[in-house]
Amino acid sequence: MQTFTLFFLAALTLGAATKLWLGWRHIAHIRRHRDRVPPEFATDISLAAHCKAADYSTLKTRFGLISVLFECAVILALTLGGGLQFLHELTSAWFEPGVMRGVALLAVLAAIMTLIDLPFSWYRTFGIEQRFGFNKMTPALFAADTLKQAALAAALGIPLAACMLWVMERSGAWWWLYAWLIWMAFNLVILAVYPTWIAPLFNKFSPLEDPQLKERIERMLEKCGFKAQGLMVMDGSRRSSHGNAYFTGFGKAKRIVFFDTLLARLGPAEIEAVLAHELGHFKLRHVFKRMLWLFGVSLAFLWLLAQLMNQSWFYAGLNVQSPSTAMALILFFIVVPQFTFLLQPLTSLYSRRHEFEADSYAAQHASVADLISALVKLYKDNASTLTPDPLHSAFYDSHPPAPLRIARLKNA
Ligand SMILES: [Zn+2]
Repeated sequence: MQTFTLFFLAALTLGAATKLWLGWRHIAHIRRHRDRVPPEFATDISLAAHCKAADYSTLKTRFGLISVLFECAVILALTLGGGLQFLHELTSAWFEPGVMRGVALLAVLAAIMTLIDLPFSWYRTFGIEQRFGFNKMTPALFAADTLKQAALAAALGIPLAACMLWVMERSGAWWWLYAWLIWMAFNLVILAVYPTWIAPLFNKFSPLEDPQLKERIERMLEKCGFKAQGLMVMDGSRRSSHGNAYFTGFGKAKRIVFFDTLLARLGPAEIEAVLAHELGHFKLRHVFKRMLWLFGVSLAFLWLLAQLMNQSWFYAGLNVQSPSTAMALILFFIVVPQFTFLLQPLTSLYSRRHEFEADSYAAQHASVADLISALVKLYKDNASTLTPDPLHSAFYDSHPPAPLRIARLKNA
């Protein structure tokens, strides 16, 4: 067996074992704390709500563990099991060598992966979310969403893939630099057209009507020196009762979007506090920093891909006998996450630091008490567990656990 094969298997096993161990710890920790609401929440959260959050989190985590095992099986089937080599032979029968054959290989694989994921996302929606009363989707809407997403992925992905493969094959040793420029341009275009062209394919957006709330929000925006084009309400309740708020677009075309479910649950002062938190992300340039970071990482990865795609051991070690640019791209996307998974705690830490910073920005521009009561309501409505396993949380959580976040706000 090749050294690279062993290396790959070791990373895959280590990653899966870590995920299983963390998930198992998380479930055990939640179960141990299921019968008692943490004292600092005892006045706001009932034992029934606390138990519901525990059961919901347990079920989601347990299902996540099954997905981990399944994903490993799929990766092994595609690589060492000969799946990718088989797909190569299939698409070779349809197309001459070149960009079109590469696009066909990527498209067939993407279609297979989408089909494999379908039962999982069905169960997430109609199994888990439904059981806890969060799901508002009908099977017809689920089917329509799936078809629309597939059409959108094809409409955007096929031209992008063709463009990338062409650059990889035809633009010489520096292709990774050109590919990076294309990738950045693609991301910026998507970001720019998302609010007006893409998001309305899935949801209805209407201007915020409530005059009093609107006035409050506009006053807050002015106070924070933030220019936005519109305050929109999105019909999030079509799919789920989970609430949220976000910013979209960039430059002067920024929009603020509130889920109708959020507006229904929070009072005006709480909405203002949540908005102040989101404004904090913008004012402290979190979005911009994250984008710079992502662009930096993608440049490094494209360079790495440029080195790997010329090595025969990279293909042979993963049981692929027919090297090609498309195959290099696929193997890269399968292999790299197995090695970068262990960096996840750093990404999570970085994200949690931003959350704390946005919270303290909100504390300066809005009422701390309102932000706390909004957070408690959101944690309760989303049935997020108040007692996550500390290690699991440190590894994965992009947002700090509720008790830590609220304790910090109280001290602000
Ligand atoms: Zn945030």
